[in-house]
Amino acid sequence: MVQAINLSGKIEKHLPAELVEFMQEAGLVAASQGQSLYLVGGVVRDLLLGRTNLDLDLVVEGDAASLAGRLAETTRGKTTIHRRFQTANLKWSRWSVDVATARSESYARPGALPAVKPASIETDLFRRDFTINAMAVELAPDRWVRLIDLYGGINDLERGLIRILHEKSFTDDATRIWRALRYEQRLDFKLEPETLRLLKRDVRMLDTISVDRLRNELELVLREKLPEKVLRRAEELGVLAKLHSSLKGDGWLSKKFGEAREASSPDLPPVELYLALLAYRLSDEESEKLIFRFRLGKSYAQTLRDSYHLKARLGSLADPSLAPSRIYQFLHGYSQSALNANYLASDSPTAKQHIHLFLTRLRYVKPSLTGNDLQKMGILPGPKMKEILQRLQEARLDGEVTTKQGEVELVRGLLH
Ligand code: ATP
Repeated sequence: MVQAINLSGKIEKHLPAELVEFMQEAGLVAASQGQSLYLVGGVVRDLLLGRTNLDLDLVVEGDAASLAGRLAETTRGKTTIHRRFQTANLKWSRWSVDVATARSESYARPGALPAVKPASIETDLFRRDFTINAMAVELAPDRWVRLIDLYGGINDLERGLIRILHEKSFTDDATRIWRALRYEQRLDFKLEPETLRLLKRDVRMLDTISVDRLRNELELVLREKLPEKVLRRAEELGVLAKLHSSLKGDGWLSKKFGEAREASSPDLPPVELYLALLAYRLSDEESEKLIFRFRLGKSYAQTLRDSYHLKARLGSLADPSLAPSRIYQFLHGYSQSALNANYLASDSPTAKQHIHLFLTRLRYVKPSLTGNDLQKMGILPGPKMKEILQRLQEARLDGEVTTKQGEVELVRGLLH
């Protein structure tokens, strides 16, 4: 059913004029090619909720590549075409829009990537994950911004429900389980009771999903505003245990994630630090399994390894008599996220204080004399020079010397 809801007010309020003009133009161009164009997915949901979302997803009943090509001319933008997926991306000035050919999807087996065939917008909407993500807005000039809501999306938005479109949805693609929890927690919605029952029934289908897709889902969770809520719910429903049976989404994690956010820049989620905190209570072997199983990238793997390595040494770091130069030796070389994770997770005020001192001051301490200066004093580059530079740094760290002249005198003393 095409509801007679017209979104022009909301579109003008929540989208910049440039994007609205682009959509008008795009609708006109598509119509001139005999194609129908729609705005779909998350941006429609967010428009109806009054949330800002500038990720425009367009679907065309026709050919995405040729439409994107025409639009690249009118916007003087650039397109990237993915023929296999019948999708195109269009970029111009600061905007990026995805255009897809309306399609049907069928799954040869659970968890497989779907086979794709061109289809109508109705069919395209039916392949989507949840009713609230399965609405479209017409962009044709004569039906400008009319809402298409075939599966009760508006009703579920009003009632705050996450509802799948058919009984086999989680079996076809179990990544939707993680998606369901993300939307539920992000929007403060509830899983609709039948969806909840099917989700519980199909949790085991997560085993059919490739590690790369699962890792991607975990990253998306960690990019949420409040990932701890999703992880808590995932633990409750047995979803988190599917990543690793020892992971916990409990009060400790919530507290540490909150502190991690406070210590980070507001618009950049501290994904790597979250990951280190999530894995913090695993044993070394369990962390290694996580790295191996999910083929974690170099930086994530390094952070997890640094984190458990440092955790094992926190007892020694808690010695209040440690000189700054010892603290430096102890902590330099560890990744920033591993240091932060241990700072947040440690129960020892002294160990925390030492990490804090390292992060805010010690790591920036450098001697004034450089290798060049030392050469002028007759020291050749090599192990001896390295040793002297290190000694100078220690002396600086411990306040033995405080001026360049003091350093010169120290070097002279070392040479005699
Ligand atoms: P977000 O705000 O998280 O980016 P979004 O709705 O834009 O939300 P995307 O992951 O960008 O999410 O997906 C765009 C749209 O594609 C979704 O709204 C949904 O309609 C559809 N979609 C994405 N992933 C799936 C999936 N696994 N199964 C079915 N439909 C999906």
